[in-house]
Amino acid sequence: MQKYDLFINGAWQRPESGEWFDTHNPFTGEPWARIPRGNAADAEKAVAAAHTAFTAGPWSKLTATARGAMLRRLGDLIARDAEKLAATEVRDNGKLYAEMLGQVKYLPQWYYYYGGLADKIEGSVVPIDKDGFFTYTRHEPLGVIVAITPWNSPLLLATLKLAPALAAGNTVVLKPSEFTSASALEFVRLVTEAGFPDGVINVVTGLGGEVGAPLVAHPKVAKIAFTGGEQGGIAAYESAARGLKDMVLELGGKSPNIVFDDAIIDNAVKGAIAGIFAASGQTCIAGSRLLVQDSIYDVFLDKLVAFAKTAKLGDPMHPDTQVGPVTTPAQHKKILDYIAIAKGEGARCVLGGGTPTNSPGPWFVEPTIFAEVTNDMRIAREEVFGPVLSVIRFRDEEEAVAIANDTPYGLAAGIWTENVGRALRVEKQLRAGTVWVNAYRAMSFMMPFGGFKRSGLGRENGIDAIREYLETKSVWINTTGQTANPFVLR
Ligand code: NAD
Repeated sequence: MQKYDLFINGAWQRPESGEWFDTHNPFTGEPWARIPRGNAADAEKAVAAAHTAFTAGPWSKLTATARGAMLRRLGDLIARDAEKLAATEVRDNGKLYAEMLGQVKYLPQWYYYYGGLADKIEGSVVPIDKDGFFTYTRHEPLGVIVAITPWNSPLLLATLKLAPALAAGNTVVLKPSEFTSASALEFVRLVTEAGFPDGVINVVTGLGGEVGAPLVAHPKVAKIAFTGGEQGGIAAYESAARGLKDMVLELGGKSPNIVFDDAIIDNAVKGAIAGIFAASGQTCIAGSRLLVQDSIYDVFLDKLVAFAKTAKLGDPMHPDTQVGPVTTPAQHKKILDYIAIAKGEGARCVLGGGTPTNSPGPWFVEPTIFAEVTNDMRIAREEVFGPVLSVIRFRDEEEAVAIANDTPYGLAAGIWTENVGRALRVEKQLRAGTVWVNAYRAMSFMMPFGGFKRSGLGRENGIDAIREYLETKSVWINTTGQTANPFVLR
């Protein structure tokens, strides 16, 4: 079995605990690699390395243009090794190779985009209202950034943080999910090859409580970018608050995918499928509440079930497979528990509803559809993070918006209609960070991404995301050669 070490200060280091744990292939359920069990002592070493690289190392002396070039080189190396990195991700999280390869091949764009932005971060000369001063602002990096990621899209979610944070001139400690750490440890090999000085990018692995929490609490950490579940997110946010640190928080969702009766039905069926069965429903943006207008509800449901029935379950590495396993046994159990809850609540199971007969592996769940769900049921309110769809009826636009917004979350939403006015009216009323019209599950390095309400704080992607990793300094230069009355504010 492959055995990994931690990557700290440009070198592979054994965990201070002297312990490793297994990571499993979700398709077979078998362990395939040993991951170092980092702890507070490793967190200390990684933050110290990142802090030194930020304050004293060659990194802080590089021009922004040179930093940008390094980021672009890293992008090229990811493109070169995309197949290997994607296969590692599949072995760890069980998502389709086609999906992971698509994601990894897209990652260089983040490094090119933010690499290009690195030397375009301009301050401004302020035409100050007081005589005798020349005033300007500059935008400076914060210091050490801790990036914490979940298991569903490990390298993509790390990249959303690393690319802007590094472009801004910060240094980083990445803590990937304990279930999917291998791809980060493979990726980090490329960092030295791209020319990044020691300590600029460090990877420590281990459990959230054992190594994630000490990283968040560390006084030399300036900011935390966290993607994950609500429980871990809130724990990290509370700890960050005690240290007066800011956070970017990307949390869960219960996103509405709304189908009006004037939609192109076949397109909307595909959009509903993409929203919930792609990645076996293990995406934060899953369109797990499908809102369908009363007048087409039955016809739509029939078509949806007929299409979903054709989904091929199997080996995620196989090009014909459409639905793979879920990532962990705990997640498998959680999904089955939610299916039981939905049945108990009186939702009508019209497809799936359990582990498939002749299951291709131990951790598969059938694509499952519940009809006649009402928005007050737990299956409509809580994030399942699996291939389980709740179909909810609505009468008109007003009711669709009310149901869509009646959720603690606000990550994403879909609207299916051929009426432009309706699309614009409904989009404007939806409390969600991303709204797709006649599409679902599209993402770009250029488009801001993040949540309203309990789906998170701050934004990733787009030009503004680099501001998350910058601090503004205001500089006042006295041009008079004199000092004014020291007892009076100027
Ligand atoms: P999780 O919260 O269990 O773990 C996420 C990461 O946080 C892991 O690396 C974990 O070790 C770490 N962690 C946990 N507790 C911590 C603590 N107290 N201090 C520091 N670190 C801690 O989440 P998960 O189960 O791996 O991922 C699934 C969740 O992620 C879902 O809720 C999903 O919606 C969410 N998610 C959100 C987005 C988004 O962009 N909004 C994207 C993907 C996934």
